[in-house]
Amino acid sequence: MKILTNSNKKIYIQTWGCQMNEYDTELVRAILEKANYTFVKSELEADIVMLNTCAIRENAHRKIYGRIHNIHHQRNGNPVMIGILGCMATNLRTDLLENRNLKIDFIAGPDSYKRLPQLIDECTRDKIRKAYDLTLSEFETYSDIYPSRKSGVNAWIAVMRGCNNFCTFCVVPYTRGRERSRSVENIVTEVKKLTSDGFKQVTLLGQNVNSYRHDEADFATLIEEVSKVDGIERIRFTSPHPKDFPQRLLQAIADNSKACKHIHLPLQSGNDRVLDMMNRTYTRKEFFDLVDRIRKLYPAMAMTTDIIVGFPTETDAEFEDTIKVMREVEFDSAFIFKYSERKGTIAEKKFPDDVAEAIKTERIVRLNEIQKAISLKKNRTHIGETHSVLIEEESTERSKHDFQGRTDGNKVVIFPAGKYKKNDFINVRITDATVNVLKGTPVN
Ligand code: SAM
Ligand code: SF4
Repeated sequence: MKILTNSNKKIYIQTWGCQMNEYDTELVRAILEKANYTFVKSELEADIVMLNTCAIRENAHRKIYGRIHNIHHQRNGNPVMIGILGCMATNLRTDLLENRNLKIDFIAGPDSYKRLPQLIDECTRDKIRKAYDLTLSEFETYSDIYPSRKSGVNAWIAVMRGCNNFCTFCVVPYTRGRERSRSVENIVTEVKKLTSDGFKQVTLLGQNVNSYRHDEADFATLIEEVSKVDGIERIRFTSPHPKDFPQRLLQAIADNSKACKHIHLPLQSGNDRVLDMMNRTYTRKEFFDLVDRIRKLYPAMAMTTDIIVGFPTETDAEFEDTIKVMREVEFDSAFIFKYSERKGTIAEKKFPDDVAEAIKTERIVRLNEIQKAISLKKNRTHIGETHSVLIEEESTERSKHDFQGRTDGNKVVIFPAGKYKKNDFINVRITDATVNVLKGTPVN
């Protein structure tokens, strides 16, 4: 592989979307820093601007196209190279490559980041217009790259990539390809290195993280092995699929003191017909059974979810079913989205996007109100309890004189600043709660 090793070029990278994209940006930084590029914080200082894009929900492409135009406008005709990375690169490949009005220089899909130095080289040295690599790999896991992480409290680590589930609304299987996992040994080696960089918490990432499988090892094995690393005190994971929670995994989470007691359980809909159209592969009853199994093992387990409102043909009565499940389960919090038709998905091909925008809005507003009341009620149950909190930063919620951190159950806690540092654990007695945060006082 030919690499420009003495480039002296400065790069600015902007990241949209999920934690996996944040993590991929850390991989991209590591790959390009090795090739002697420097990353800068100011876009105007950069020779190259890279946009690490997301294609999951509405307007993503319009935002990015606007952003490309904006970057050129700010430069007033001075040259700047623009690179498009991430899910949109694969999702909108034809338009990105063929649209002559889009002034971009290179395009790299999620499995092609090792080729970035070459792609940049092709644009600069060989003057190729729109150099690209959008190949999806069945093997690439970047297990040989140690990401260039910002120092902090939590380290992301992708343990698997891609998705085989083909939920009908979702672009991920097309933009990120098939599932593949890294070996336990390789992940544990990276986690050990993380602890020597000062991280106490690791979040295991994957598009369908609990379907992790490498040789004989499953996700429960992985959690057990990672928890044996000295210095790691908290293990989180995201995003799991409800279909992949064998009892052995739930038991491993419940029993392991380092596994955080929070499970994100994306429900999407509370109606069986809609779940079937979404190809979620579980019914409402099976979802309830899973919640019961979790609560039997660990009654205080925090649970959060994702919901899509206005999926094609969803009726008012079917939406009411989702409300019923939300009221019955009482999730700690929920990410609620309006269905947005995504190019290339099964839903785009088979089901007209026929729920009116006004109805989607009505449903999302209603569900958000219901969830807010549930979140407040759940948060208030913590008043009077004492929680171990990992300090993350000065609080954005109140003032500079407050700190914030998270409980094991992933709740944000705000407390008065004292002689504590980021990355310390302290015990906080909860004295108040709002919809989004707990407030409290440190105790010895
Ligand atoms: N893998 C996870 C799972 O199985 O649920 C979710 C990953 S996806 C990046 C995050 C969330 O985005 C999904 O749970 C879903 O609620 C939402 N989402 C994905 N595609 C969507 C679409 N076309 N319209 C609206 N929301 C969508
Ligand atoms: Fe998308 Fe479904 Fe895969 Fe999650 S499990 S990434 S929603 S296809």
